[in-house]
Amino acid sequence: MRIGLRLGGPEIELLALTENGRELLRQRAPAPADYDAVVAAVVQLVAAAEAELGSPACVGVATPGAVSPLSGAMERSSLPWLEGRKLKSDLQQKLAREVRVANDANCFALSEAVDGAARRAACVFGVLLGTGVGGAIVARGHLRHDLDASTREWGHRPMPFVRAAEDGPAQACYCGHRGCIETYLSAGALARDCAGRGGAELEPDAIAARAASGDTACEASLAHYEDLLARAFAQVINIVQPDVIVLGGRIAELDRLYANVPKLWQHYVFSGRVSTRLEKNLHGVASRTRGAAWLWD
Ligand SMILES: [Zn+2]
Repeated sequence: MRIGLRLGGPEIELLALTENGRELLRQRAPAPADYDAVVAAVVQLVAAAEAELGSPACVGVATPGAVSPLSGAMERSSLPWLEGRKLKSDLQQKLAREVRVANDANCFALSEAVDGAARRAACVFGVLLGTGVGGAIVARGHLRHDLDASTREWGHRPMPFVRAAEDGPAQACYCGHRGCIETYLSAGALARDCAGRGGAELEPDAIAARAASGDTACEASLAHYEDLLARAFAQVINIVQPDVIVLGGRIAELDRLYANVPKLWQHYVFSGRVSTRLEKNLHGVASRTRGAAWLWD
């Protein structure tokens, strides 16, 4: 049995899966913004799941940020209470076993590659588009850390093919740089762009609904967003040419992206022939949690 947990947002989610991915148990608990309380809640959830199912499990955790290979502490997490904390070693000590911890975008990509929208694809680029922006490569069912040079912290690489007159000035990012992909492609960036065109600062689904009803500011904003997305993906296609790019997060719910963006990336991809497909995720919000369970293969 394998257990995946997702930290982040207002709750902790636990999924218990069989060895071949069948869901056995799904539980949620409130996530207080307090590190010690979250660690205690994770330990309690795992113990309760193992007691209910009558079996020990291997445990994986999906979380914003990453475990520093140098210090073992969490870094670049959007959760302030998690930054700098040694989550992996603390959980290992309290659960008395090895625990695997990975960035939530990595877990999302792994989930969709193993048994989601990109199953059977040899090379998958999984992308979360929401409050933050992240991506990860999975090749033949395994996260490719050796390709990190091109894809690690994808959301914090510079946006390619920038046209300042059209895209506006590069914005400062919380990571300390300016003009990161995340500053163009997050839900907040889309909302600000829409407001700047005379529309309202809205959630992505509301912008899409207004665009579909003829709101010209919302339509212009979404069309610009799709072109930015095409440019960002073209750079990945130019480097690794994934078979599938699979989207998660709130912005992945906009169905028009899947028809429009692949037409647009043709303008930016170096090779004239692109076989990459753009797909919506299969497992929804649970995908990150499932991917945490799949950190054990
Ligand atoms: Zn950044």
